[in-house]
Amino acid sequence: MAIETINPANNFVVKQFKAISDEEVKEKIEKAHTAFLNWRETSFAERGKMLNNTANVLRKNIKKYAEIMTTEMGKPITQAIAEVEKCAWVCEYYAENAEMILQKEFIQTDASESYVQFDPLGIVLAVMPWNYPFWQVLRFAAPALMAGNVALLKHASNVPMSALAIEELFLEAGLPENVFTTLLIESYQVDAVLKNSLVKAATLTGSEPAGKSVASISGKMLKKTVMELGGSDPFIVLADADIDDAVNIGVTARTLNNGQSCIAAKRFVMVEDVADEFEKKLVNKMNSLVIGDPMDEKTELGPIARADLMLELEYQVETTVKQGAKILCGGKPLDREGAFFPATVLSGVQKGMLAYSEELFGPVAIMIRAKNTEDAIRIANDTPFGLGASIWTKDIEKAKELAKKIDSGSVFINGLVKSDPRLPFGGVKTSGYGRELSHYGIKEFVNIKTVWINDSVI
Ligand code: NAP
Repeated sequence: MAIETINPANNFVVKQFKAISDEEVKEKIEKAHTAFLNWRETSFAERGKMLNNTANVLRKNIKKYAEIMTTEMGKPITQAIAEVEKCAWVCEYYAENAEMILQKEFIQTDASESYVQFDPLGIVLAVMPWNYPFWQVLRFAAPALMAGNVALLKHASNVPMSALAIEELFLEAGLPENVFTTLLIESYQVDAVLKNSLVKAATLTGSEPAGKSVASISGKMLKKTVMELGGSDPFIVLADADIDDAVNIGVTARTLNNGQSCIAAKRFVMVEDVADEFEKKLVNKMNSLVIGDPMDEKTELGPIARADLMLELEYQVETTVKQGAKILCGGKPLDREGAFFPATVLSGVQKGMLAYSEELFGPVAIMIRAKNTEDAIRIANDTPFGLGASIWTKDIEKAKELAKKIDSGSVFINGLVKSDPRLPFGGVKTSGYGRELSHYGIKEFVNIKTVWINDSVI
């Protein structure tokens, strides 16, 4: 895919970039390795200072970074600003906690002393998506860098300005050159990066095909990977749910980031008793969203990130309708310049229809009816994905029991599924493996090294 910024709000080409050559990639990897040899020797305090500086630079330039993201992929500017703020948070979280999380663990054995230490691995490649151009990168980079690794970024081809801005951000924050490197490369060039022996591990956030490709090449090279892939999260509305609350959060959960979030609520699984009321109120609220120029602070729904992705979404909706589902609102691209797709509700979705099993990456709510609670849990799990899930009920003890039965990386009870630096994030099934964030995330890319000592020789 060409590396270029096209503003999806008007389809204007903003900037085009040429991919660097394989030879240049090799040179950058060698420089990153040299940088690693010094970076690994720095103390947690030094790294922490630089990560805190990164948070400061993010806040200082919050508007500039937010505008780059909105220009490149169309998220509403207020949400872009919130994204930059969240990036500052993750930097501060790991600046403060990495040393404590990665301290030596002493374990009593037959040794005079034995312990576990957490050493950095070296160069870690991050292949990242366009939907949260800053957050996806920072949530990987902050723990990886604090652990003493260095990072290479292959960002999505439609967000090159974000990719370059993040590289500059780290330099401005005082990190040495080549500790964080952006590679402006196309996806076919990732293969050579993974095969370079100086690259020790990789993480990919994106679609299942991209994940399978990077995981299989890395597997052949016996390199550690973390995969954060797609999702089709169930939003389970039980008979005793607070319907107004569920509707309010449900609309946000479906339309945040113009509906292009991996953990968006995509399948609304409602028990029959409350399905009519929930559906009617959801349609009203979806219809009330302000759609338009994503640079306008009043806008709640901007364009889809690329024209081709909007056409794919339209195809998925049309096909599901042909298979028997009903459109209650939206359903077709807006007749205006830019890749605008309205908030859409697809009712009567059943097994066998496309929207039942595929991920729809846009503001389309899929309504599925369940006979009762047990049936709702069965439907929630009847998907290849397993990223997040939410349950809406006033019976918290029952919800905790149901949470055990849901095959996903997280379950939120009466709340919006969201990521938080303090909590692990990731999926099961085709949503991937491994975890980001919290103490689990930082330990994905370290050498868990055992040290065993016999001091009786002294
Ligand atoms: P994508 O097409 O898979 O792209 C993701 C990244 O992978 C891009 O940098 C892309 O580069 C690269 N890529 C694509 N094919 C590749 C290949 N064969 N080898 C190596 N790299 C390859 O996904 P997207 O459209 O950007 O993002 C949407 C998807 O990401 C959705 O499925 C969403 O659910 C998922 N997602 C998951 C999470 C999570 O945490 N689980 C978070 C956000 C998004 P090019 O742009 O150059 O093709």
